[in-house]
Amino acid sequence: MADAKKKKSDPKADLKKLAEKLSPSPKNVWDELDKAGRKEADELGRRYISFLTRAKTERAVASECAKTLAARGLADLSKTKGKAAKGGYIVHQGKLLGAFLPGAKSPAEGFNLIVAHGDSPRLDLKPKCVYEESGPGFGMLKTNLYGGLKKFQWLARPLALWGFCALKDGRKVEIVFGEDPKDPVLTIPDLLPHLDRKAQRDKKISEAIAAEKMNLVAASIPLGTPEDKNRLKLAVLKILNDRWGLTADDLVSSEMEIVPAGPAREVGLDGSLIGGYGQDDRMTVFAAMEAMAAVKKTQRPTLFLVYDREEIGSYGSTGAAGGNFVDYLAARAFEASGLKPDWAAVREALMNTNCLSADVEGAIDPDYKEVHEELNSARVNHGTCLIRYTGGAGKYGASEAGAEYMARIRAAFDKEGIIWQSSLLGKQEEGGGGTEALYMAAFGMNVVDCGPPVISMHSPFEVSSKADLLMTVRAYAAFLKMQ
Ligand code: MN
Ligand code: MN
Repeated sequence: MADAKKKKSDPKADLKKLAEKLSPSPKNVWDELDKAGRKEADELGRRYISFLTRAKTERAVASECAKTLAARGLADLSKTKGKAAKGGYIVHQGKLLGAFLPGAKSPAEGFNLIVAHGDSPRLDLKPKCVYEESGPGFGMLKTNLYGGLKKFQWLARPLALWGFCALKDGRKVEIVFGEDPKDPVLTIPDLLPHLDRKAQRDKKISEAIAAEKMNLVAASIPLGTPEDKNRLKLAVLKILNDRWGLTADDLVSSEMEIVPAGPAREVGLDGSLIGGYGQDDRMTVFAAMEAMAAVKKTQRPTLFLVYDREEIGSYGSTGAAGGNFVDYLAARAFEASGLKPDWAAVREALMNTNCLSADVEGAIDPDYKEVHEELNSARVNHGTCLIRYTGGAGKYGASEAGAEYMARIRAAFDKEGIIWQSSLLGKQEEGGGGTEALYMAAFGMNVVDCGPPVISMHSPFEVSSKADLLMTVRAYAAFLKMQ
């Protein structure tokens, strides 16, 4: 009798218990990590910073991954046909990477597939890009926007050139200029505030900087003597020729990408965060590569795809639109396992495939909370995000995971003690965005978007958290282990 009385007398504790049972409070990953866990997050973050610094283009991402997979014993399936006991990888057109790892089960029963993208918003050089402004006195390079970027973020900052040029005789020239601390950098000048009122300040931010005004200062020492013409344009061309053997015509068959110069960095007085260019979507590429290495034995075979061109709509021979390359990779996985890649069998395997569309999520910005719907928005340090649907207002263009699949994924994550959050991108009518999920869903497979929260997304210095990176690696590993 006395005991019963005692229990009843603490309604506060009972209510707290009930609340935890019915709706557990969101967990900050740092609160849950012990000393070893924090050290693991820190070391993983440093390795990731090195990857981000080395892989600043989709080509660099594909070749970094290919190199690592080859070192892990995977076969280059573009060079060999037939069985591959440890799995294999293919790089298509230098920019799209697909990989296969065998599991205990046959590929005919379906795969666990992780899909990411290796391209990021940037500036490209136009095919005809060299010109001069003889009055102001500069040799210049003309750029073309690639992907959704805020133009003002790219002015008056150090920029590097990552180029790839294919010559008529079959030779290939690769350029990285502006990354070595001893290299000069490139820059797009911005107008001084003293004179920017009519040209920029009184305009809408989207109209204040014209894309055609985003040109790089490339040289300022003229060739020849003052009587000569085009001395600054020639100065730029001569440097391109002296350094890399290129002519203006060669630039027509080149892919010259302008990216923020310099390494990724730890951010914050506590160094808990990671700042750098291209985390959308190289963070999930890195996490998936780590997860594949960490999981030694899976039941289902693994497929991994790193697409190009996601930032401009996924169209093109290296993009995901229309389900490009997925069925081919699945067929090659059949062959690598000694099976005949019969059309219906491959399609059936894809219908029975579990897919994670691995992409970063826009997290709540501390200074612009109003664009987020706080109940459903992602928070940094609260674990990897499961995003049931993407798209714009009214779910237009959305890919959406079914309830049954969501249940299986959260069961898999919870079983491994993963800290994750359910999130949606922003308020309903603020904009929106999509991923590669819908192109995978077109095969009839289950797909859900899953990736770490990021602030300053699509900027030259995106910011993520070491703790969320750790949870993303663990979440992807848990996914790969799914039956
Ligand atoms: Mn992305
Ligand atoms: Mn993006």
